[in-house]
Amino acid sequence: MNLDWLIIGGGIHGVHIAARLIGEAGVKPERLRIVDPGNRLLECWRTSSATTGMTHLRSPVVHHLDLDAGALFRFARGRTSEEPSLFAQPYNRPALTIFNAHCEHVVETFGLADLHIQDRALECAVDNDGGVVQLSRGREIAARNLVLAIGASEQPAWPDWAPRDNSRVRHIFAPGFDWWPSPSQTVAVIGGGISAGQVALRLLDEGHHVHLVSRHPLRQHQFDSDPGWLGPRFMAGFSRERDFSRRRALIAEARHKGSVPPDVREALLQAMKGDHLSWHKGHVERLDSHSGGLALRLSTKTELEVESVLLATGFSSQRPGGSMVETLIASASLPCARCGYPIVDSALRWHSRVYVSGPLAELELGPAARNIAGARRAGDKLVDAARVSRSANAKTSHELSR
Ligand SMILES: Cc1cc2nc3c(=O)[nH]c(=O)nc-3n(C[C@H](O)[C@H](O)[C@H](O)COP(=O)(O)OP(=O)(O)OC[C@H]3O[C@@H](n4cnc5c(N)ncnc54)[C@H](O)[C@@H]3O)c2cc1C
Repeated sequence: MNLDWLIIGGGIHGVHIAARLIGEAGVKPERLRIVDPGNRLLECWRTSSATTGMTHLRSPVVHHLDLDAGALFRFARGRTSEEPSLFAQPYNRPALTIFNAHCEHVVETFGLADLHIQDRALECAVDNDGGVVQLSRGREIAARNLVLAIGASEQPAWPDWAPRDNSRVRHIFAPGFDWWPSPSQTVAVIGGGISAGQVALRLLDEGHHVHLVSRHPLRQHQFDSDPGWLGPRFMAGFSRERDFSRRRALIAEARHKGSVPPDVREALLQAMKGDHLSWHKGHVERLDSHSGGLALRLSTKTELEVESVLLATGFSSQRPGGSMVETLIASASLPCARCGYPIVDSALRWHSRVYVSGPLAELELGPAARNIAGARRAGDKLVDAARVSRSANAKTSHELSR
């Protein structure tokens, strides 16, 4: 198969970019494919967001997968009278149900399900004519342009003390997570961010006793980085910075990792007044397994007896993509910063034929790169690149035909 565009990763970023390339840059659907191992597009997003029990997104209504910023609001308008909580205030944050319904609408509008190749990219190589991607089932696909939109969702962060081979210890973002404690269990939730808070609240609602263990006090932030990072206010200085280690430091400083928005904080504080949620500030020093369950020793010297542990410790910060990205780097000596992440140009080009989005675009797009807003920014850049490439192709064909 010889394509114009192959997008690796069919999550929030890959789907949005596909919609933009088809809907705005005039890329023909038959010339584009999305490779992703999920049963359907957006599977990782749907699983992880459902697991947390979140009811609304953290981001505002203008951050969605469609082309026009007002599209989700218009999509929801017809339904607001029946479902009054479709948007949470402040900032009109969409309910997960309406956001997901709208994602499905985008997938249908652009016929993206038909462009989904259910497989995994194992190896990539690139030269000036394009890239060749080896898939796990043996197929090889060539494309003039590759987009890496692989996200970080396949690399949940496991604390060192947490065994991976104990069926009572799970990570909520482990691929294919579908385990949930049996009724009335005592569960330790480990983590201090929004997902830990939401999972704790979900477990409480379902009748469990919960110990929430966080290394720091509840940190309140509406968003996971200041909205100033979505525009020139902060991005102008970031883009002027030519030292990529300094850019990495700016990103780390700007991201409110391990923070919760006011509504989740309030719900947790209310729940702590009851008997079923205990909050512990400290870290786990040791976990022992015995026939009845697990014993956790905390840095506060508290001993917790629980039946299961749910890790809500987010994602590892290492560069995603593993050996697939390594083979690509090796094929064309692609530049990386000291942190291992790609050094790309302002069009998100890592190579004349390779574009990146999500975490891989972080050193160019800044702290919001991983979010839906980052997907939209990457979409802007890719549409521009595809238009330039189309007009260059048209010019060449015109000259050849003279
Ligand atoms: C619970 C939760 C809630 C969030 N809420 C918000 C929010 O409200 N607002 C916001 O802006 N952001 C939010 N985010 C952050 C971010 O928008 C999401 O994590 C989003 O899913 C990231 O999209 P993505 O496309 O980069 O990654 P994903 O959606 O995870 O998709 C990446 C895809 O690439 C696939 N892939 C990886 N490697 C390969 C390979 N070698 N070959 C083929 N496919 C591959 C993966 O299997 C996956 O399907 C949230 C994140 C989480 C976890």
